[in-house]
Amino acid sequence: MKTNLRVSIDRERCKGCELCIPVCPRHLLIMTAALNRKGYHVSETARTEECLGCLKCARMCPEAAIEILNIP
Ligand code: SF4
Ligand code: SF4
Repeated sequence: MKTNLRVSIDRERCKGCELCIPVCPRHLLIMTAALNRKGYHVSETARTEECLGCLKCARMCPEAAIEILNIP
């Protein structure tokens, strides 16, 4: 199911803690091999158009790196 919601992850705020990964009911978040400028592995969203907007990932992130956007 596709929605108008998109997950935005600020990769420079991400500390690679992986706390957001297991909380997504749709398994939309994954860790990547990419490093940010501080040297942390960053998370990203797979299939972002399937986001439910439950905000579990955003609430879990200790760095407030995740935003859920509503696109027109
Ligand atoms: S808002 Fe909910 S459905 Fe969307 S990515 Fe975060 S945890 Fe997953
Ligand atoms: S919870 Fe936040 S800091 Fe941790 S991996 Fe996810 S986006 Fe990065």
